[in-house]
Amino acid sequence: MNLEQYIRDIPDFPKPGVVFKDITPLLNDCDAYNYTVGQLLKLIGEQKIDKVIGVESRGFFFGMLLAQKLKAGFIPVRKPNKLPHKTLAQSYDLEYGSDAVEIHADAIHKGDKILIHDDVLATGGTAGAVCQLVKELGGEIVQCNFLMELTLLNGREKLDGHPVASLLKY
Ligand code: 5GP
Repeated sequence: MNLEQYIRDIPDFPKPGVVFKDITPLLNDCDAYNYTVGQLLKLIGEQKIDKVIGVESRGFFFGMLLAQKLKAGFIPVRKPNKLPHKTLAQSYDLEYGSDAVEIHADAIHKGDKILIHDDVLATGGTAGAVCQLVKELGGEIVQCNFLMELTLLNGREKLDGHPVASLLKY
């Protein structure tokens, strides 16, 4: 199956000059998203995963499906002030300014084997910050896993040498 046909380019979203990769056509088609889950699982292979992290918000969709298949727990990493319990935060630089992600402080136990999943790896700022959170809580990152990677932006360089895998490269 050619997954690229389910990813739609939206020019000038969310701001002028940006071409946004829209995954909603992929979510809209049961065969396509099931196939995608299978392909993402192949990237992980036989590696043991205790917890899957899904990054707000588009990382939640496949993150939860992967967790179920892997018989792993699911951990939401969210934008600031969304998680209700005690959190740990990590900020990261944007082109202009900065942003942050948060995780519940009790979500990871020392030595937990962690899969980080998001829809897109762009500059790597977001996933790099998530890696930092996992490290601080004593988790072991098995793989940073994405539907898509925008290779020109060199996001992999921000991921501290952790294994990176993606289904589609642009
Ligand atoms: P980064 O921090 O690597 O620059 O950006 C990755 C984050 O921004 C991910 O959470 C991803 O959901 C979002 N993102 C950046 N560009 C796109 C895009 O073109 N399409 C989608 N769906 N998400 C994007």
